[in-house]
Amino acid sequence: MKEKLEQIRSLALKYMDDISNLKELDDLRIKFLGKKGELTKVLRDMGKLSPEERPVMGKLANNIRSEIEEEINSTKEQMQTKLKERKLKEEKIDITISSKSQNIGHRHPLLSTIKELEDLFISMGFTIVNGPEIETVENNFEALNFPSNHPSRDLSDTFYVNDDLLLRTHTSPVQIRAMKEMGAPLRMISAGRTFRFDDVDDTHSPMFHQLEGLVVDENITMANLIHTLDIFIKELFGEDMKTRYRPHHFPFTEPSAEVDVSCIACHGEGCPACNYIGWSMELLGCGMVHPNVLENCGIDSEKYTGFAFGMGVDRIAMVKYGIDNIRLLFENDNRFLEQF
Ligand SMILES: [Zn+2]
Repeated sequence: MKEKLEQIRSLALKYMDDISNLKELDDLRIKFLGKKGELTKVLRDMGKLSPEERPVMGKLANNIRSEIEEEINSTKEQMQTKLKERKLKEEKIDITISSKSQNIGHRHPLLSTIKELEDLFISMGFTIVNGPEIETVENNFEALNFPSNHPSRDLSDTFYVNDDLLLRTHTSPVQIRAMKEMGAPLRMISAGRTFRFDDVDDTHSPMFHQLEGLVVDENITMANLIHTLDIFIKELFGEDMKTRYRPHHFPFTEPSAEVDVSCIACHGEGCPACNYIGWSMELLGCGMVHPNVLENCGIDSEKYTGFAFGMGVDRIAMVKYGIDNIRLLFENDNRFLEQF
């Protein structure tokens, strides 16, 4: 029996040298020390031994068991340390390697322009109101005092969805919605997409952007309109900018005017950009709200008056950033957009 026990010890230690992972180590423990292991098998024959031999063999067996157990434990520790070291090595971060830079982008020049315009008007006490891009014919034309034979109502100028709905041709229907919902007094602006049946060229696009403003209150006059727009233009383009008002016609305002602004490039001196006249033409349209429009929205035109103005945001962005082709704003070419 002694020989058998010694044999188990040497076998176990010999196998230990070939162990390469924790699973093999565990298998080895079960094979030699487990309930059905080699050592247990030998100890079953204890009964055949003489009473004198039994304690001696028992002691030997216990020694061999602890020896193998100790060996297994120390091998296990070594393996775990090695594993840990390898893991640390693999996960080591080299902070000297430069990181991949992510281009997170920025606002489109058109949106920047809208935000800048909105901020200006908010600072002047205006509220931002939004409206749908698909509008009723009623809000887009009728309530705005367009006669039924007005040329812009023509099928060739307007995208109709059906007899009652269309893609709004201007942001003015938002004024109608605001007056109907909020009544007077009112001070609002609205910016957004508008649609007209235009062929694409350097300055035209079937989809373009407008910003409109409306003030309705008691005792509002043309003087309030001119003062407000003058402040706005000076804030946007500079203190030395001048405005001039040319009579015009819009169905929804009376009187109406188109506003010219000092040439942005030369500030009025005269340059090739303005054909040496010193003015940027037709930057804004404006006027006193037609009494019919107020009445259409349930506002007493005897008590209240108002002024309204509108501008093409695309045109302002083009003037502001020196862009000579409106297509560039909508083509989303990164080489162009990265410049802003
Ligand atoms: Zn000029």
